[in-house]
Amino acid sequence: MAILVTGGAGYIGSVAVEDLRKQNESVVVLDNLAYGHRQAIDSSVAFYEGDIGDESLVKAILSEHEIEACMHFSAFAYVGESVEKPKIYYKNNFVQTLKLLDVLIENDVKKFIFSSTCATYGEPQYVPIDEKHPQSPTSPYGWSKFMVERALADYDAAYNLKYVALRYFNACGASETCGEDHNPETHLIPLVLFAAQGKRDSISIFGDDYPTPDGTAIRDYIHISDLSQAHLLAFEYLRKGGDSEFVNLGNGSGYSVKEVVEAARKITGEKIEAKIAPRRAGDPSRLVADAKKAREVLGWNPQFPEIERIIESAWAWHSANPEGYE
Ligand code: UDP
Repeated sequence: MAILVTGGAGYIGSVAVEDLRKQNESVVVLDNLAYGHRQAIDSSVAFYEGDIGDESLVKAILSEHEIEACMHFSAFAYVGESVEKPKIYYKNNFVQTLKLLDVLIENDVKKFIFSSTCATYGEPQYVPIDEKHPQSPTSPYGWSKFMVERALADYDAAYNLKYVALRYFNACGASETCGEDHNPETHLIPLVLFAAQGKRDSISIFGDDYPTPDGTAIRDYIHISDLSQAHLLAFEYLRKGGDSEFVNLGNGSGYSVKEVVEAARKITGEKIEAKIAPRRAGDPSRLVADAKKAREVLGWNPQFPEIERIIESAWAWHSANPEGYE
């Protein structure tokens, strides 16, 4: 039996494909390559280029392969863009996911691992954030993921769909072969490393007047290999008959923007000029996960919690692939 990985050519999906194959799982990738990279997937992997909402394509995949479960990574994930273009976020992340789910359920594929996000919580009322924290997203991106979560709960009750919805905090770092190559790039760690490579003059620190020890915003950075392992564990959990769950994925410790820049200076040996810029709209001061549930329910044990190891892995990948995948 095989696992259908949507968005398997993307940043996190490609690492999951790599790790599933290391465990001798059979994998089928569906990706429309809107943001994914064909080169991120080994040529021996069964690959279909197309949309998750293309019902006839998904039906064809399910008839050609015996699919046991679906890991659903594909989504648009730019918070700012989602405010300007909510239509494409609701359509791609929510409506298309419902179409995918319909075909899966019709064909009796009822194990589903979903890439959700800490953006479903919105402005934190308390930190660290556990899974019981109220959910009130502050962007169409967050709402589009929240709406899928809502549908999953109802689909379990009505159709016995078993899911694990994994709420990622800040995904970063690289495996040996797969790394972060977004266009446009907006994330802190790759941008800091671009400055170290001389691809940009400096990095902007968005706000130094937050109520944090050094005034810059704190995030819970999590290595993509640790994220990927959580997906494999979630799959095993469902395979053994586990019940549906919503689970945070973070390290439970936060690093400030200044700490990230400082760690990158140490690792790259480059000066990396940082300029203080205004806050970015909608950025909370501190987002840190309470990730106890992932350990307890899935047996997850992150291997790269230190920011230095995360940045080292990203630096190795960016140094080996200065132009990304192209
Ligand atoms: N950030 C920054 N400069 C940048 C990009 C990001 O200061 O050029 C900050 C951002 O405001 C946030 C943190 O770095 O506090 C992480 O941002 P990122 O976009 O990587 O992830 P997010 O937390 O938005 O998902």
